[in-house]
Amino acid sequence: MATTTKSVKKTETKPASKTTKNPKKKIRIVPPTIAVIPDKTKRLVSGIKPTGQLTLGNYIGALRQFVKLQDELSDHEHFIFIADLHAITTPQDRLELRKNIRSVAALYIACGLDPDKVNLFIQSEVAEHAALGYIMESTAYVGEMERMTQYKDKKGKQTDGIRTSLLTYPALMAADILLYDANVVPIGDDQKQHLELTRNLATRFNNLYGETFVVPEGFFPETGARIKSLTDPTKKMDKSGDNEKSYILLLDDLGLIRRKIKSAVTDSNGIIKYEVRNKPGISNLLQIYSSLTDVSVKDLEKKYAESDYATFKDDLAEIVVDAIRPIQQKYFEIINDTKLDEILNQGAERAKVIASRKMFKVYKKLGLGRIR
Ligand code: ATP
Ligand code: MG
Repeated sequence: MATTTKSVKKTETKPASKTTKNPKKKIRIVPPTIAVIPDKTKRLVSGIKPTGQLTLGNYIGALRQFVKLQDELSDHEHFIFIADLHAITTPQDRLELRKNIRSVAALYIACGLDPDKVNLFIQSEVAEHAALGYIMESTAYVGEMERMTQYKDKKGKQTDGIRTSLLTYPALMAADILLYDANVVPIGDDQKQHLELTRNLATRFNNLYGETFVVPEGFFPETGARIKSLTDPTKKMDKSGDNEKSYILLLDDLGLIRRKIKSAVTDSNGIIKYEVRNKPGISNLLQIYSSLTDVSVKDLEKKYAESDYATFKDDLAEIVVDAIRPIQQKYFEIINDTKLDEILNQGAERAKVIASRKMFKVYKKLGLGRIR
């Protein structure tokens, strides 16, 4: 399916023939082995958790970047997955989770990911993710995991029943990336610390057991790296946030989106200026506006120098609605189509080829199992 996909070439090496021409020459009998020539393609990997419906933050910070990169990095093979194993680090309703997994898959396509260019798949359908996740837990130290700010944040939101996987999921994230020898990992800046950990784990493993993993690079979008909550603009817009006015869902009713923007928290000074510390609300709205239109924040400040917040919010509401409308149209076309299943099957199949090859190598380096 993927245009950049190169299948594994298998070449049979012929046994050396027993020759009588030169009797002094040592006869070397080479067993008929299968030499696997790895494909040279560079790879990009990323994913989104199906913990709820996707937000405008996910779109600006992640989805839109994936879409841009599928064309800009056409020399890479792209693996974009639905991170359902990550979702169960916190309690999920079984039926909701199933629904969300499919919804994220459909949104990938609706936002412009092209299954001919990108391998789209569900993480749990490629068992090697969990297998390498465990190996990464056996490479990481507890102290490292406890230092992760996402863990501290998420743990702080729960009173009891904190799952062990909430602590260890950065090891699974490292596995997600290292399985594919990803060179490029497009992520929001909330994931920077986890990527750093991944790099450390890859380097540690390579030092302990010999060269096995490619040490990946992060890729951070220039604008819109972190869209803030509409009700508390000092916090990130989160799909698992409690206040539904704090986020815009890509599948929200368009009228509701307008209302959410118009009621976004700002300040009382009335000047449209980007000043994150003193004016976090209006700065966040400027950031959203700029990300969706590619007009710089500076130019927006000039354009709205004489305007009030209400006018600015009205314009922004239309810009957001115009960006989301076509996504919703495409989403409803594909969500119940069996084509979506075909796309996910093909993606998983290709992912398994790469992932199983890597796991074989990892087990061998560690001395696990038997040599076969
Ligand atoms: P959760 O609250 O469950 O953590 P989330 O909205 O943070 O959900 P993730 O699945 O953790 O979503 O992240 C998916 C991708 O979206 C990541 O690359 C992340 O950096 C990006 N992302 C999430 N929220 C935002 C945001 N507010 N602004 C920009 N990017 C975001
Ligand atoms: Mg998150």
